[in-house]
Amino acid sequence: MASPGIYVSIPFCAQKCTYCNFRSDVFPRGLRSQYVQFLADELGLLDVRAGSTLYFGGGSPSLLEPSEFSTLAAALPRRDWEEATIEVAPGEGTPERVSTWAACGISRVSFGVQSFVPEVARAAGRRHEPETVRIEVERLGEAGIRNISVDLIAGLARQTFATWRQTLSWVERLGVDHVSVYMLEADDDSRLGRELRAGGRRYGALQVPSEEAILDFYLFAVERLRALGYERYEVSNFARPGMRSLHNLKYWRMEPYFGVGSDAHSFNGTQRWANVATAPEYVGRMAAGLSPRTAFEELDRNRMLEDRVLAGLRMTEGIRLGPRAWRDLQPRVEPLVAREWLVADEPSLRLTEGGLLFADEVVAELLA
Ligand code: SF4
Repeated sequence: MASPGIYVSIPFCAQKCTYCNFRSDVFPRGLRSQYVQFLADELGLLDVRAGSTLYFGGGSPSLLEPSEFSTLAAALPRRDWEEATIEVAPGEGTPERVSTWAACGISRVSFGVQSFVPEVARAAGRRHEPETVRIEVERLGEAGIRNISVDLIAGLARQTFATWRQTLSWVERLGVDHVSVYMLEADDDSRLGRELRAGGRRYGALQVPSEEAILDFYLFAVERLRALGYERYEVSNFARPGMRSLHNLKYWRMEPYFGVGSDAHSFNGTQRWANVATAPEYVGRMAAGLSPRTAFEELDRNRMLEDRVLAGLRMTEGIRLGPRAWRDLQPRVEPLVAREWLVADEPSLRLTEGGLLFADEVVAELLA
């Protein structure tokens, strides 16, 4: 079995972004202290082998005070991670926090920038300036953390081609190693999603670009990033050679991973399970001496195949199938090959350049 990825869920945010429907929220400080203590207990139970990756995600893990982060790091069963990432909200990378992360073995930072243009960031509920990110990237480098990723969203309210170009220019200026570009998907239960559906002016629904414009932003980013030397290795992920996210590759390649904290998911190769969804539920279960785990699922052959297609086909390397799975999918593969969305070369199946734009449709048709 491949060495597992460890995901640590920190569901606390300084503010709620308009498009976000994650289970993270702005919770009272007292809940956070309890959560950290219980999370340390759960971390202490992990049995982790060499070659594992570690990922602090959220929420905003960078919101944790240095003492809270150190409590969690001390509870981890090892220090020699193949890669150890923390998601950081710009503005939260203070000198004290950065030196704590470095001392605790963090080797990679993923910045939730979304836009480098303050007006666009503000419309999404963020308050940072591009200069803040530049200073924090520099600070991280001085502390020895040089593997930096930035997350961008194409299609935020008030985004125009000019502001999108500015955002990509900042990527070039910072020279980071990894970029994730997501096309806006405001889920129905986010505040922006509700406004897009029901109308209103508070969260900028009227200034959200059209679907065609969002696709154009994405295609522009693909070209720009390619010209800057980034390889697209997954629909939304671009890396300089050798700088792919090792942790995320584990999800997409269906290698094992174990999640701790609220709404964290786990997979051991044959079974999946999830922890309870919200921080208050998690603290309640742990305080009562109950397991936070719920929603167990034993994966049968069909479910494994579905998951492999769902998780893996968005990678440019595609997926490899066994003879039986290949036979099962063959009737649905052929029309997609004819549309030039899929390349089928037994045993491997991968999306074409055009197919990468319709990854969700291809997956839906393969699993229909
Ligand atoms: S997008 Fe990130 S920072 Fe914003 S509310 Fe959601 S989890 Fe928190």
